[in-house]
Amino acid sequence: PMGVCPSARMALLRDNFTGLLNPWARPDVLTCTSWGAPIIWDGTFDPAAAQQKALQQNLTIGLTVFAVGRYLEKYLARFLETAERHFMLGQPVVYYVFTERPAAVPRVVLAPGRRLRVERVARERRWQDVSMQRMHTLHEALGGLLGREAHFVLCMDVDQHFRGDFGPEVLAESVAQLHAWHYHWPRRLLPYERDARSAAALAPGDGDFYYHSAVFGGSVAALRGLTAHCARGLQRDRERGLEARWHDESHLNKFFWLHKPAKVLSPEFCWSPEIGHRAEIRQPRLLWAPKEYAALRD
Ligand code: UDP
Ligand code: MN
Repeated sequence: PMGVCPSARMALLRDNFTGLLNPWARPDVLTCTSWGAPIIWDGTFDPAAAQQKALQQNLTIGLTVFAVGRYLEKYLARFLETAERHFMLGQPVVYYVFTERPAAVPRVVLAPGRRLRVERVARERRWQDVSMQRMHTLHEALGGLLGREAHFVLCMDVDQHFRGDFGPEVLAESVAQLHAWHYHWPRRLLPYERDARSAAALAPGDGDFYYHSAVFGGSVAALRGLTAHCARGLQRDRERGLEARWHDESHLNKFFWLHKPAKVLSPEFCWSPEIGHRAEIRQPRLLWAPKEYAALRD
């Protein structure tokens, strides 16, 4: 789907975090959802204006990441080092690293105003369970210290690194990431859970976009609701002996179908280099690591 949405045709999109968004700057892509939320692409926002606004509001931004088992040695150092170069520069940031081995977390030098907290989690036996357990763990953390010290939180996979600036232009009450592999697919082919017995199921014809669970975020209150919904759905499925097609991501997609995100990030924000060149991908901000499942998953 291409083109600016009807509600954006008459006016620039007002945005709390950038002032104004210019949806016309990118006539090559869809810059607004059917419910009026901006889809931010390079060129539609002013990163300097977003930074200025965020500094005025003195927002503390949380960034959560899980590094359990071999994912810790493999990815965490690069994720954090590149975050120091690109994530919310000049802004108070608190990293939350969840791992079963706090002592093995690399000591990354942090700029002033930035802190790192390590939270111990149990190591689940199956990688799917590590991934799914995140919703419950995040829910608890958001109800505790993280929720008290951060205004907005981004929740990310660790198997990626920052390549471009990822600043306060991404902030909104709730934020969803377009999946790099699926953003141009016809809706009926999107890999939603279709088994009606699952809490994550979408009926035929339902669904707006396919969102990637490697990046989602929002205000603490919105994320409390999101994580509660997903953790509940995951638990309900488990009790019925079900597991949704893409695990926690399926439940996240169900949540965003029911509760539309206030802002959508273009695939530039979380890009897979394996896809190759795409004219509309001007400035990738996060890059996925190649999938090395054999070496990482038992
Ligand atoms: N994860 C982890 N250890 C594991 C499995 C998963 O730390 O054994 C965390 C890690 O942050 C990872 C995320 O859960 O990025 C999601 O898993 P993965 O990236 O393997 O899923 P995919 O991106 O392939 O859907
Ligand atoms: Mn991943």
